[in-house]
Amino acid sequence: MTGLRWGLIGASDIASTRIIPALRRVGQEPLAVLSSSAERGTRFAVENDVRLSYTSLDAMLGRDDIDAVYISTTNELHAQQAIAAAVAGKHVLCEKPLAMSIANAQEIIAACGQAGVVLATNHHLPAAGTHRRIRELVAEGAVGRPLAVRVFHAVKLPARLAGWRLDNPERGGGVILDITSHDAAAVHALLGVRALEVSAISCSQGSWGASAEDAVMTVMRCPEDLLVQTHDAFTVGYADTGLEVHGTDGSIIARGVMTQDPVGTLHLRDAKGEREIAPRDRDDLYEVTLRAFQEAVRGQGVPIVDGHAGLQALAVALAAKEAAQTSHTVSVDAVLAGQQPHNG
Ligand code: NDP
Repeated sequence: MTGLRWGLIGASDIASTRIIPALRRVGQEPLAVLSSSAERGTRFAVENDVRLSYTSLDAMLGRDDIDAVYISTTNELHAQQAIAAAVAGKHVLCEKPLAMSIANAQEIIAACGQAGVVLATNHHLPAAGTHRRIRELVAEGAVGRPLAVRVFHAVKLPARLAGWRLDNPERGGGVILDITSHDAAAVHALLGVRALEVSAISCSQGSWGASAEDAVMTVMRCPEDLLVQTHDAFTVGYADTGLEVHGTDGSIIARGVMTQDPVGTLHLRDAKGEREIAPRDRDDLYEVTLRAFQEAVRGQGVPIVDGHAGLQALAVALAAKEAAQTSHTVSVDAVLAGQQPHNG
C-alpha cells in the first residue's frame, strides 16, 4: 500500500525544515503546496522538490490524488483552512495551536467528525520517545501519586522565526500560544489531565521590543491538586529544557526533552536511589506523528495528539493568556464553555 499523499497548506519554515523531510523518510508524499503568494509558493516548491504549487485552496483541495493536508500557516488561518479541507474530504494534520479561539477549534473538530476524516494536532512532544517512556513510568506507578510537574521550556527564538511571533497578536503571536500550548499538550499526554485553573505573569523582556509577550511563567492546578509550573520564553539562550514529575514515591527528572529533536535524558529517583531510564526509542518526533496519522487514516490506530487534545491544550493556553492579561486566576472550564473565566 502506498503512503499518504499530502497537500501542504502554508509555505512555512516548519513544513520545509521538519515535515517534508519526515514525510519522505516515512514513505509519504508531499505532492502540492499552497501559498498566498505565487512567487513564494513556486520558490518553495522548487527548493523543497514539491511537484505542484497552488494559490487557490479550492483548486488544491479539488485534487483527487491528495489524501490529507498539513496546515502550517499562521494561526489565525488554521480554522478556515481545516474546515475547508474536511468538507473536501481530506484528512487534517493541523499545526498548533489548533485555532485562535475555542469556538473555532470546536468547529474544526465538528467539521472533521461530520466528514469522517482524521484530525490531528501537531504538538510534537507527546511523540518523543522520552515523553512516551515518562507516561509509562507514571502509569506503572513509578512515582506514586503525581503531586507536581515542573516544565522548563525557555529558549532563544531563532532570528528566522521572529516576525509574526513577536509582533502580531492577531496572527497568534506570543510565547503563550507558541510554547505554553506545547507544555499543556505534553502534560495532558503524560498524566492524562489538564489544568482546571491557571495563573500567569508574562512580559516582553527581549531587546526586540516585541508587542506580544515573549516570556511567561504559569502556575496551574489540575485534578487531585496536582500542581504544574511552567517557564516559557523566547529570550533565554543558555538554559537547558526539561521536565520533572514529582510524586509521593519518586521523581522523574527529564533533561533536554522539550525540543524538536529525539534527544534528552531521563532519571528516576526514589527510595532505592537514582538510575538512568532509557527512552522508548530515539525516533524522529515528526516521523512518529506521521506514521501514527497514517495508521489512523487506515483505521488501525489513533493520532498522537487528536483534535480533542489540541482543543484542551488551546484552552489552557488561552486561560494563561487571560490570566496574564488580567492578573486573575482563570478557570479553564469557563474558557472552554465561553463563560466569564474569572471572578475579577
Ligand atoms: P512561517 O513564518 O515560516 O510561515 C507561516 C506563514 O508565513 C507561511 O504560511 C507563509 O505564508 C508566510 N511566510 C513564510 N515566509 C514568508 C516570507 N519570507 N515573507 C512573507 N511571508 C512568509 O511559520 P512557522 O513555520 O514558524 O510556523 C507555522 C505554523 O507552525 C504555526 O502555526 C506555528 O505555531 C507552527 N509551528 C509548530 C512547530 C512544531 O514543532 N509543532 C514548530 C514551529 C511552528 P504562505 O503560506 O501564504 O506563503
